[in-house]
Amino acid sequence: MDTAVKPGQIGALLAQAEAGQPLDVSEALRLAESAATSALLSAARALRARAKGRIVSYSRKVFIPLTTLCRDYCGYCTFRKDPGEPGAHFMSPDEVLALAESGRKAGCKEALFSLGDQPEAVFPEASEFLRREGYSRTLDYLASMCELVLERTGLLPHANPGLMPAADLARLKASNASVGMMLETVSPRLLRNGQAHWRAPDKVPALRLRTIEAAGEQQIPFTTGILIGIGETMAERLESLAAIRTLHVRHGHIQEVIVQNFRAKAGTRMAIHPDAELEDMLRTLAVARLMLPEDVNLQAPPNLSYGDFPRLLEAGINDWGGISPVTLDFINPEAAWPYIAALESATRAAGLELRERLAIYPEFIEKRGFVHPRLTVRIDCLRDRQGYARFGEHQNAGNTSNASRVHSS
Ligand code: SF4
Repeated sequence: MDTAVKPGQIGALLAQAEAGQPLDVSEALRLAESAATSALLSAARALRARAKGRIVSYSRKVFIPLTTLCRDYCGYCTFRKDPGEPGAHFMSPDEVLALAESGRKAGCKEALFSLGDQPEAVFPEASEFLRREGYSRTLDYLASMCELVLERTGLLPHANPGLMPAADLARLKASNASVGMMLETVSPRLLRNGQAHWRAPDKVPALRLRTIEAAGEQQIPFTTGILIGIGETMAERLESLAAIRTLHVRHGHIQEVIVQNFRAKAGTRMAIHPDAELEDMLRTLAVARLMLPEDVNLQAPPNLSYGDFPRLLEAGINDWGGISPVTLDFINPEAAWPYIAALESATRAAGLELRERLAIYPEFIEKRGFVHPRLTVRIDCLRDRQGYARFGEHQNAGNTSNASRVHSS
């Protein structure tokens, strides 16, 4: 790929991106490698202002780790467990309901289901648990638990189960306001021996793209994104963003793209791999904003930038993701979520306005075919006139009582 920079070219590319004309991967790479950080961030903010105005959203969610068993062994993951390891667990329906109910009482509107991929394919213990509950596959159990939570608590499920065949996506659409799966990367290189996705058969990029495409074919509002700093090159990052863009242009279903920065975790294969630095994160976010279609929302998780999280706003994000008042971020338990009050104050200090959204973004609520009829009434109860979360009890962003505090232990 020729990325040599000619005089005046950076300014022209920034102007092209700011005008909303799509950058191809080689153009985006020129910007990522050669533009001054201040110019990149400024262009990304200008594009955010035009596309999204002043609103930066978040979703008040309860995190439901349905099972920590997983057949994959991603090199950075502390969530997954083998049977018998401390923390190896399948949540029972009673446990799921109790946790969801505690979230509802704390003002949550979203039930985020996170879980390992297909543990029943390799662990007899997983098959045995599922058989006792009357299921043969984790995806069937997940769909039932989403239906249970929707019916009994009124929370809007958002499931993140990894790879999903089309039939499972169809069933999840009937109980989920939106569904998610990180693309992470399109680089098959990272599947090689010793790389981040070695021994992770569910991280084959072509399979993940197939799931995202199948969600689009079924008009499911979808969350995806990239993971940066796991051994990929900048060109591979941008190819990943371009692949997401292509699917969104085809189906119009990508409600948000997350750019998540790698943080090394003790006890993992990648424990001594260097973290993705803040500067790298800001530049990648800015290029993502410049590459993605204007209607796509851009999110970065605040807890993975620790005290620097307000700076993420400089790079054009317009969403902080799901914030849990009652449960840890089980995927990154070492990184405490900032208080919602701290998010509100950082957002206001940047001249922006924090708004709570639902698990489905406002623009998708009215989009024909994207909400299953079974969810319409519930979403209407929770939304305001603009499609954000209706303000109510427990929703005061400035409330620092235990109900709004994020547990860090
Ligand atoms: S990141 Fe997901 S797929 Fe990979 S090991 Fe962890 S739980 Fe399994």
